[in-house]
Amino acid sequence: MYYQSTRNKSLRVSSAQAIAQGISEDGGLFVPCEIPSLSLDEIKSLCDKSYNERAAAIFAKYLTDFTEAEINYCVNGAYSLKNFDTESITEIAHLFDGRYMLELWHGTTCAFKDMALKILPYLLTVSVKKLGIDKKVVILVATSGDTGKAALEGFKDVEGTQILVFYPVDGVSKMQKLQMTTQEGKNVAVCAIKGNFDDAQTGVKRIFTDHSVAKKLEQNNMMFSSANSINWGRLAPQIIYYVSAYTDLVSAGEIELGEKINICVPTGNFGNILAAYYAKMMGVPINKLVCASNSNNVLTDFIKTGVYDRNRKFYTTMSPSMDILISSNLERLLYILSGCDDEYIKKIYSELGSTGRFEVTPEIKEKLSETFAGGFSTEEETKEAIKECYEKYSYTMDTHTAVAFHVYDSYAKSTGDSSEAVIASTASPYKFSASVLDAIGKLPDNCDEFELTEVLRQVSGMPVPESLSSLKTKPVRFKDVISKEEMESAVYGFLGIK
Ligand SMILES: *Cc1c(COP(=O)(O)O)cnc(C)c1O
Repeated sequence: MYYQSTRNKSLRVSSAQAIAQGISEDGGLFVPCEIPSLSLDEIKSLCDKSYNERAAAIFAKYLTDFTEAEINYCVNGAYSLKNFDTESITEIAHLFDGRYMLELWHGTTCAFKDMALKILPYLLTVSVKKLGIDKKVVILVATSGDTGKAALEGFKDVEGTQILVFYPVDGVSKMQKLQMTTQEGKNVAVCAIKGNFDDAQTGVKRIFTDHSVAKKLEQNNMMFSSANSINWGRLAPQIIYYVSAYTDLVSAGEIELGEKINICVPTGNFGNILAAYYAKMMGVPINKLVCASNSNNVLTDFIKTGVYDRNRKFYTTMSPSMDILISSNLERLLYILSGCDDEYIKKIYSELGSTGRFEVTPEIKEKLSETFAGGFSTEEETKEAIKECYEKYSYTMDTHTAVAFHVYDSYAKSTGDSSEAVIASTASPYKFSASVLDAIGKLPDNCDEFELTEVLRQVSGMPVPESLSSLKTKPVRFKDVISKEEMESAVYGFLGIK
């Protein structure tokens, strides 16, 4: 199996190369040349397997240049009780007839990013070794909160790597900030930027693509790679939990083998929902994919009209990980829907770069709406969803999951589609205690983050993740706040090079 760039399909690389490099040099994203298939018989045989066995079976189809031993080493290193609070790695909560919550936040940083970022360091270091590269891998991350912490935990003390995370000084929740500034590990650093997430992201991209920076790293026997979802090593692990959730529902007798389900995903960069699309294309019986947005509803409009237009107001919402107007992974979907037309993708993405807008062909729009439905949730609707779900089903959701809950409810009501549906639950409510308590109407005055955690524990009856409560006594290690112009010198300072 080879991987090609969405902007130059004559470029073909192995999965190890795609993972080590992160992004193609032409600015395109790596995609598998063909999507491997998974038969109903295979799905049936996965039903009585563990998460790790299911993961190994799916990875074997995508990472054909990895040996079985290498795949097992990666899978077993990542998915264990050291990194997750449940043996099943993910859990499914049955809300009511036909509606299931796929809880993807049982990893140590309490967001779904752990599902991929616990294994990415393994995939990356094995890839680098396979390719015979003897360089230190430097990971630069721009984060609006969840990716930063998950990447730090994943790469902490991993030999041959160093990781530096930039976050917008006022753009993350209190708990997210504490998670990052108290980070342990010898090869990690965290730095706040005076600016917003876009400033951090633009700064990182500039450093990534600057040839003089690359040369300096080269002279010091170092190379950059990416831990963002543009890296195929983030996408592949996410396909697995959709396959696994389907087999779990079959095993539990909730659905018949072969019965089609719908999946609804709270979406930002389009990585998580794209993984569900890959699962569907492989053969998992999935009918509709419902793409849920918050007030930053660029994708809702795109699915409806075929016009992608980022020229609009940017809203800061209580679901910050979805506050994004350029959904990078959409490029991979459009590449597939265009029949792998790299020239076409190059054209529309250069339009996006210069005008902030493109419109897809009627054929692509048609194909898009065969599979995808889109909707969005306002701040008020998100709050109501948290309250309703809490009062009716005694289930406490975080602010991102609530967006999906609301959007799926509207979808089911307006279409009459009564299929069984899985909603991706992407974060623990404890990461957003203040917003969740506010929605339920139980937000006390003048409480610090840990007092709020305790109130939420009493209200929700859910155990507090140890990884969050233990932050209370951890010393803050990283206090630097720099301007965006200082990012490059911060990288050199961190790496100890001139
Ligand atoms: C990152 C994130 C999302 C968005 O996922 P994408 O793959 O970027 O679409 C949704 N919810 C939470 C909690 C997240 O951390």
